[in-house]
Amino acid sequence: MHHLTTELAMTAEHQAEHDYGVTPGGVVEPPAVVLPERRLFSQRARRLRDLSRRMRSMADFLGFAARLAQAQHQVLQKQVSTFAPDAEAFELALEHGMPPLMAQTLQHDLDWQEDLNALCDALELNVGQAQQQLIRQLRALDVTARQDMAAEVLNAGNGTEDTRAFMPLVAAALQVAWLRQCSVLPRPPKRAEGVAQTVCPCCGSLPVASLIQVGRERSRVRYMQCSICAAEWYMERARCTTCFETGKLDYVSLEGEDGKRPLPVRAETCGDCHSYVKIVHLDTEVDADALADDLASLGLDIMIAGERDIGRSSYNPWLITG
Ligand SMILES: [Zn+2]
Ligand SMILES: [Zn+2]
Repeated sequence: MHHLTTELAMTAEHQAEHDYGVTPGGVVEPPAVVLPERRLFSQRARRLRDLSRRMRSMADFLGFAARLAQAQHQVLQKQVSTFAPDAEAFELALEHGMPPLMAQTLQHDLDWQEDLNALCDALELNVGQAQQQLIRQLRALDVTARQDMAAEVLNAGNGTEDTRAFMPLVAAALQVAWLRQCSVLPRPPKRAEGVAQTVCPCCGSLPVASLIQVGRERSRVRYMQCSICAAEWYMERARCTTCFETGKLDYVSLEGEDGKRPLPVRAETCGDCHSYVKIVHLDTEVDADALADDLASLGLDIMIAGERDIGRSSYNPWLITG
C-alpha cells in the first residue's frame, strides 16, 4: 500500500516537471519546425469572430476576415491537390536544407487558381453587396492578372491601387494551396541556419508574426509562423528575429482604458536593424492566432509608426496598406 502511494506521488511529480519542459534526463528539445494542422483555418475563423466582437472599431473588417477564413476551411476540405511530384523531389530538398515547397518556384505548379474560384463561391453567399461586387470583379480578371497578384503576394508586396483590394483573397487561395501541400511532406524540414531563419523553412516566405507557444514540448517557446503555409519554426526569445542582435530590444503593447492589454500581443522592436515583429502570447490566451491577432492589433502598428522610425519585418497579406 505504502509502495503504491509513493509511486503515484512520483508520477504526479514527473508530470509536473513535464509541464515545464524538463525530464529527469534534462531539458526537452522543442521541435525545430512544426507543420500546420488542417483545422487552422476553422480555428482562425473562430478567433476572428471573437475579435470582431471585442474590437468594436474593427468589427466589419474582422468579420469579413472571419468569413474569409471560414471559406478557406471549406475549400481545404473539398479540393485535393493535383500537384504530386514523387517523394524523392522532397527528399532532396529536405536533405540539403532547402525549402521543399518554395513559393516562388511553385507558384505556377500549385492549383491555387482553382482554390481562388472555390473561395469566391464559398464567400459570395455570406458577404455584403460591396464585397460581392469585389468578388465579381475578381472573377472577371484573366489568369495572367491573377498570377501577377499572386507574385506580388509571394514577394510580400502591397500591390497597386487597382489590385490591393483583391490581394487578401488571392493570398487566402495561396494559403489554402500551400497548407494542403504541407500535408504531403514526408517530414518537417530541419532547422535553418543563419539568415535562412528569417524565412519559412517550408516555402521560403516571410513570417506573419511570432508566437509564444503552449503545450508539453513547446511551453513558452517562441516560433515564427509563415504568412503563406502557416508552418512554424523555432526562434529564440529576446533576440531580434531579423538581425539576431540582443542589445537594443524593447517591448511595446497597446493599453486599454482599464490599463490592461486588450490583446495578448506585444511588439519586439530592435534598435540595431530598426525593425519590429509582433509576439502573440498563446500563454496568455490559448485561442490567439498569429494572423488574426496581428490584424486586430493594427493599432499597435499605427502607434509604432507614429513614434519610431522602424518598420515591420513580418508580412500579413490580409493587411491592405498604402
Ligand atoms: Zn511557409
Ligand atoms: Zn534587429
